[in-house]
Amino acid sequence: MSYMIDERDVKFVHLEWLKVEELCKLPAFAEYSADMFDMVITEALKIAKNVLSPINAEGDQVGCRIEDGQAYAPPCYKDAYKTFVENGWIGVSVNPEYGGQGFPYTIGMQAIELFSGSCTSFSMYPELTHGSAHLFEVFASDELKKLYCEKMYAGQWAGTMCLTEANAGSDVGALTTTAKKEGDHYRISGVKTFISGGDHDLTENIIHAVLARVEGAPKGIRGVSLFAVPKIRVNPDGSLGEPNDVICSGIEHKMGIHGSTTCTLNFGENGDCIGHLIGEENQGIKYMFQMMNEARLYVGIQGFAMSASAYLNAREYAKERIQFVHVKDMKNPDADPVPIIQHPDVRRMLMFGKAMTEGMRALLMKTAYMIDLVHYHEDENERQKYQGLVDLLIPICKAYSTDQAFRVAEAAIQVYGGYGYCSEYPAEQYARDIKITSLYEGTNGIQALDLIGRKLAMKGGMLFMSYMMWLNEFTGAYGEHEGVKDLVEKFIAAKDTLAAITMGFGEKAKGPEAILAVLNACPYLEMFGHVVVSHLLIEQAAIAYDALIKIYEQKGCIEDKKVQRALIEDHDDAKFYYGKIQSATWFVNNMLPHVKAIAESIEAGDTSALKVVF
Ligand SMILES: Cc1cc2nc3c(=O)[nH]c(=O)nc-3n(C[C@H](O)[C@H](O)[C@H](O)COP(=O)(O)OP(=O)(O)OC[C@H]3O[C@@H](n4cnc5c(N)ncnc54)[C@H](O)[C@@H]3O)c2cc1C
Repeated sequence: MSYMIDERDVKFVHLEWLKVEELCKLPAFAEYSADMFDMVITEALKIAKNVLSPINAEGDQVGCRIEDGQAYAPPCYKDAYKTFVENGWIGVSVNPEYGGQGFPYTIGMQAIELFSGSCTSFSMYPELTHGSAHLFEVFASDELKKLYCEKMYAGQWAGTMCLTEANAGSDVGALTTTAKKEGDHYRISGVKTFISGGDHDLTENIIHAVLARVEGAPKGIRGVSLFAVPKIRVNPDGSLGEPNDVICSGIEHKMGIHGSTTCTLNFGENGDCIGHLIGEENQGIKYMFQMMNEARLYVGIQGFAMSASAYLNAREYAKERIQFVHVKDMKNPDADPVPIIQHPDVRRMLMFGKAMTEGMRALLMKTAYMIDLVHYHEDENERQKYQGLVDLLIPICKAYSTDQAFRVAEAAIQVYGGYGYCSEYPAEQYARDIKITSLYEGTNGIQALDLIGRKLAMKGGMLFMSYMMWLNEFTGAYGEHEGVKDLVEKFIAAKDTLAAITMGFGEKAKGPEAILAVLNACPYLEMFGHVVVSHLLIEQAAIAYDALIKIYEQKGCIEDKKVQRALIEDHDDAKFYYGKIQSATWFVNNMLPHVKAIAESIEAGDTSALKVVF
């Protein structure tokens, strides 16, 4: 089986829930329409299904190689890359000034769900290129922008993000790569590890975004600067010059993403690596931070996208695999065995996959939508409001989604039974490929620290207050809604619990008990994630309920439960809306109670993990 996506849910999210066409009311998108958005998603889906999905397993099996200091992507990526870039897929939401198509970020992120879900290792090459080109577009001099951006967005040249070193992983400020000023450029020297797409044979050049320390810079992150370092030097007219003393000294052999080269790069081993400062000296982390929201959202989408396909593949398998009689026929020796999808425990696992992946799509696409409003809303106050919400939600988008995505893939393996463990079926590759998403772009532990240490404290706690106001508006609007009022009632209790724990963290922040918040940062992020996803799923369920009632009315069966059930079985929309309500109901009844449990464990104030002698 290959890439699968719930196209109906994608349509629902964009058209019925987010109402993306509203973005066309903003001057930035006045020339676009819902039909144009739909066309992009439809075409992206074709690329995902016809070009990327077929190379996913092969890339995983063949992997990458290195020979004489040159790394190679799986050969099957070559043609796919050509098709991908020729059709402009790096530039969906890129500024038309640099050859992009200028679509909303939300539409770009939806395309990324499709590309990441169908072949994550492949899609990392263009996505990292997009990330570094965007960094240059925003912060580099006009001269460098002119030299790099268009060719990178067109996919002619690739890009990377070079932060990590052997002794500077989570602690980026510990990096030791140096930059020595020499006229209008710098000489770069140091070794970067774990660089995705650090070297490969898909493009003629690679422009590395490298963090390094200028001589005499302050210690730690305050002394970090950002440089553009080409693999092959670029002449002022844009043509390629000499190699730039950037040597790929090795590639990693990893658990997953086998088609993505993960490189050790030696910069300036022969003293001849030239880099160009981006922006000002010692501002590198500030620039990276400004790009971080989008990079972290991307990684959240990456993990989620694979888990959504893992779940759908498992669901289809469960419809085919015959094993055991139905539980109600246990004592009947003549009963026929049934497809495993009829067994309650299998349904439980699939329901987790369905509700969780719909919830993650809701969270990630809503955040992408809010990023569009941050960039393009005409009212400064609204831009500020959405910026605050995005800042608060980003660590949850990244860490909650990637942790849950791995669990969804694990459940998918379980649905397959022993076959799930074998490479004949896709679930095990999804699980292996998803795992990295909880590690890079700041481990999920670091995301949780960002949430409790930075985001909750930002603007004197205003981000959280603004989030609570949003939730209060939601509970006010839906508290009496016939279809979801029971869910809203349970939600209010969980929301209040989250608020109480958050206030508790705030009160203890300066005292000796502050360590408890640090110790519980990850469970706190998880409970926060459950609340966020419940909210969005209930909102979707309300829309689905209204739509379902309309269908019943149209079919004249508003009182007839039997006909309603038949519709749910056979009518595509009725089935979808009913399923949406079940997703929210399941989530509120099965995931949301974890909020209370996590709160109890935090309030217990247990410090065993700090006291124990390991
Ligand atoms: C396949 C792959 C691709 C990658 N691609 C890139 C890339 O393109 N560019 C790039 O620059 N890097 C890349 N990385 C590096 C990645 O971002 C780092 O691995 C990650 O930041 C973690 O650093 P580390 O591995 O050194 O772990 P460490 O920093 O040693 O962390 C180990 C553990 O300790 C925890 N920890 C560390 N400090 C704290 C703390 N203060 N409080 C609580 N817990 C803490 C971490 O959460 C983690 O669980 C990649 C890594 C891999 C494996």
